[in-house]
Amino acid sequence: MARVTFEGACGTVTGSRTRLEFGGRTLLVDCGMFQGDNEVEARNWSDFPFEPSKVDAVLLTHAHLDHCGLLPRLVGRGFRGPVYCTRATRPLARLVLEDAGAIQEEEARYAARKGYSRHAEPKPLFTGRDARQALERLEPVRFHEPFEPLPGVQVRFLRAGHLLGAASIEISAKGADGQRHRWLFSGDIGRYGAPILVDPEAPEEAPNALVLESTYGDRNHAEHDPVAALGDTIERTFARGGSVLLPAFALGRTQDVLYHLSELADQGRLDPTAVFLDSPMAIRATEIYRQARPEFDDELLDRIANGANPLAADRFSRCNTVDESKALNDRDAPAVIVAASGMATGGRIVHHLARRLGDPRACVVFVGYQAAGTRGRALLDGASTVSIHGRRVAVRAQITQIGGLSAHADSSELERWCRALPGAPARTFLNHGEDPPRKALAADLVELGWSRPHLPQPGTTVPW
Ligand SMILES: [Zn+2]
Repeated sequence: MARVTFEGACGTVTGSRTRLEFGGRTLLVDCGMFQGDNEVEARNWSDFPFEPSKVDAVLLTHAHLDHCGLLPRLVGRGFRGPVYCTRATRPLARLVLEDAGAIQEEEARYAARKGYSRHAEPKPLFTGRDARQALERLEPVRFHEPFEPLPGVQVRFLRAGHLLGAASIEISAKGADGQRHRWLFSGDIGRYGAPILVDPEAPEEAPNALVLESTYGDRNHAEHDPVAALGDTIERTFARGGSVLLPAFALGRTQDVLYHLSELADQGRLDPTAVFLDSPMAIRATEIYRQARPEFDDELLDRIANGANPLAADRFSRCNTVDESKALNDRDAPAVIVAASGMATGGRIVHHLARRLGDPRACVVFVGYQAAGTRGRALLDGASTVSIHGRRVAVRAQITQIGGLSAHADSSELERWCRALPGAPARTFLNHGEDPPRKALAADLVELGWSRPHLPQPGTTVPW
């Protein structure tokens, strides 16, 4: 019996997990955390619908929490096998999971103090210790290097261009019909021509079955030159004596932003000593990126050969300590402050917002998606005040958003990735996307001449 069960994402964009069974042996592709409102996140606490100690191995596409975030819980419940990932994914997963463990413990302590909990007892979903135990299970593998996590099951990682180390996973194994079938799990697909990383890759042979993400299956990112837009915004803000606050996710988005700011500095449009990276996690992530030279695209290698490395420690000022961060409060000269979190829900950016939102000369530039209910969304929606640390803060600063910096392929890029496959798969499953984008992408693929894609629900099982 060889079969595939879709367990996570499936109509949402978090909690990615697919279970593969080959005659009594089990593999998972990803083991991600559900992220969103309380109802969605409650799913993280349910029991796994299988016995974790009986899972043989996990194949991890990339280090984002919605793909790796339940690994510590899986290990806490008895999983003892290897977690195969690419070499660049390992240090990023360490950064992400240790941070998540610390946040879980802090939230549990806070809940205990306040006598409030979403659960019977205020316990963390997992602890920093669980996270470290999960990290010991990571087994790095090179891109393109075939390996066998189970006898007769061959696996390769291909570059997906979405985040440093992010992979599509090709798996070849015999089905119940005795024939060898090749499945391709896209993972999250990045953008063509994005900074730093090489473009998403296609396999040499067509897969029989494809499991495809569809996050932006129903829309295209606005055509936008982010460098020009950033340059104009910074110049206008500096000219009136204001500073630019740039909330950015520590992983991926921050490094893209540094790349663009570095280009502005190369053009003589920005003084690099006026740029501050104020996030310890983003600083560590940038160091991991800087050391991953084999993953760089030609443009970045060119730039490094001919001038400044946008990821280097001496390119822009870095604030490691709280004192260094606080010192920015006393700075009068205009500055660009890049800090996490990307949706202004936590992290040092919140302190800078408290300090500068009331300044009509300042400008807050959002570069990523702002989810409903976040402070970032409230600011973008034109709130005249926002609550920060229990105080109402008046918003007098300019608030703006720059598109074109998403880490996910849009609808036309997903189609481009599909057209790059050497042949149409006999079966396609669209997971990791809400229903409207899944349906839109399914219709587009039928127009390409593909057989109608399936939209699996949680628990849908199909033969290998
Ligand atoms: Zn991702």
